[in-house]
Amino acid sequence: MFNFLEMFEKSLGLKEPWKVTKAQFIEENRSVHVYVEADKNAEYPCPECNKMCKRYDYEDKERTWRHADVMLYPCFVHCMMPTVKCEEHGINVTDAPWESINPLP
Ligand SMILES: [Zn+2]
Repeated sequence: MFNFLEMFEKSLGLKEPWKVTKAQFIEENRSVHVYVEADKNAEYPCPECNKMCKRYDYEDKERTWRHADVMLYPCFVHCMMPTVKCEEHGINVTDAPWESINPLP
């Protein structure tokens, strides 16, 4: 069977510890919404020096990115981004693996 979630993981270039947990079509505004989860026990790179650091927390607000259209419908990626605590650079939000997609303001 065609795996819809896997299709998004591939199109976003996701690997462990990132995964797509949900993808849904909202009929009201005819858009596709993809939800990405970052494993809470994983390590993520510090955005300043790329050193792998333990996850510290999550941002308190979900971020949204505008993905390319899917089956002609606008598609949005949602994720609670993990923060890391680097010995040198303190607490920062790690970079999303799909950073080439523009985040919405
Ligand atoms: Zn650092």
